[in-house]
Amino acid sequence: MNSIVTIPQRIPTTEFEERRFKVFTDRQLDKIEPIQKLPEETRFEMKVVSSVLPFRVNEYVINELINWDNVPNDPIYQLTFPQKGMLSDEHFERMAQLHREGADKAEIKAVAREIREELNPHPAGQMAMNLPTLNGEPLEGIQHKYNETVLFFPAQGQTCHTYCTFCFRWAQFVGDKDLQISSTDAEKLHGYLQAHPEISDLLVTGGDPMVMKTRNLIQYLEPLLEPEFNHIQTIRIGTKALTFWPYRFVTDKDADELMDLFARLVDAGKHVALMAHYNHWQEITTDIAEEAIRRIRSTGAEIRAQGPVIRHVNDNADDWARLWKKQVQLGIIPYYMFVERDTGAKNYFEIPLAKAFHIYRDAIKQVSGLGRTARGPSMSAGPGKVEVQGITEINGEKVFVLRFLQGRNPDWVQRPFFAKYSETATWLHELEPAFGEEKFFFEDEYEQMRKGNG
Ligand SMILES: *Cc1c(COP(=O)(O)O)cnc(C)c1O
Ligand code: SF4
Repeated sequence: MNSIVTIPQRIPTTEFEERRFKVFTDRQLDKIEPIQKLPEETRFEMKVVSSVLPFRVNEYVINELINWDNVPNDPIYQLTFPQKGMLSDEHFERMAQLHREGADKAEIKAVAREIREELNPHPAGQMAMNLPTLNGEPLEGIQHKYNETVLFFPAQGQTCHTYCTFCFRWAQFVGDKDLQISSTDAEKLHGYLQAHPEISDLLVTGGDPMVMKTRNLIQYLEPLLEPEFNHIQTIRIGTKALTFWPYRFVTDKDADELMDLFARLVDAGKHVALMAHYNHWQEITTDIAEEAIRRIRSTGAEIRAQGPVIRHVNDNADDWARLWKKQVQLGIIPYYMFVERDTGAKNYFEIPLAKAFHIYRDAIKQVSGLGRTARGPSMSAGPGKVEVQGITEINGEKVFVLRFLQGRNPDWVQRPFFAKYSETATWLHELEPAFGEEKFFFEDEYEQMRKGNG
């Protein structure tokens, strides 16, 4: 494949110096300097939790994003380092005991596997229900849930520059091969897109596709410039590299080639959007983070921001307002505020829907219209993306006003529906229909769809 680099004039050169990417995993916890200064007990807890949940953090995050004077409350520390509360007491004790006894690796692994199975590793039935087929063959690494958008999981992009402690894709980072969803096959992707003219959006996701070399990305995306892919109007790339490794866009060896790819896709008439995962304004406080944003935007690609609202990290309105303002200032478009999914360490991170709504509302109030493009709080549930639109009282009954932003049946979208108010519910399946109704309007149809897919 042709990948001759001609850098268009509009991509600026940079003054920043190249940096080596250095990463630490659970086996190197003790080698992280600021960790050595933490109490013995905290370090033991980290060891226990990281033998069950994925842990990976790089030097840039450690040295430049975390304020170690504010540990353990620092939001980026909570976002990246394992905490005791991320496991239930029972699970924690079980694993802690093994470590105290000096159990061997195989035993620790076996127990870790058992615990993970109890943590709902695949929420919202994504494996079984969204796997498409081409010529009767199931296509691993592709998900097609909403008509116009296909998700693609390239095999080389199934890791991240750092792992988020709350990640709903955590299961694929701990080596359980049967839990992974990924694809190596560019041909299958292109075949599928070609066979489906109704698809307008390709969303490349992971892990983080930005861990891939640019040449891999070229292999997937450059063919979309051919006329048979004219229906693919939008190419989105989900990434947290703007937070965890902004050098990817600035000084990495193939950063210029990446900017060139974006520019060529844009020049050919595609809408290119980086779907940047942000949780906290502290992620956009370094010069290199701003430089990465500037460079990406200079190619004509857009940056849209999305991320979940999570306890211990960003469960207050002021931090969200500050994040959205900073994004708008830098030319990023706020897109979604998500509700944390029902998986992994959810007990540690989840907040009630009622609280999530109040955070959203109190944050939106503080920003201008340009920041109010963020929709949410939204749950990516089995039937679709469901937004909590409001809390109100109708005929004396306190209710949640809900709507589908995306539905497994497109006809469900934008119909307001109502659930009994709950102080504590954290997810759609904990909600009950309001006004004495037995079921939500979509439930029978969704049940049929589930059966249809085995
Ligand atoms: C969120 C999501 C999309 C994209 O939805 P948009 O509302 O277009 O951003 C596509 N597929 C799946 C499975 C999703 O969860
Ligand atoms: S960057 Fe995204 S995929 Fe990677 S750990 Fe964080 S939330 Fe998960």
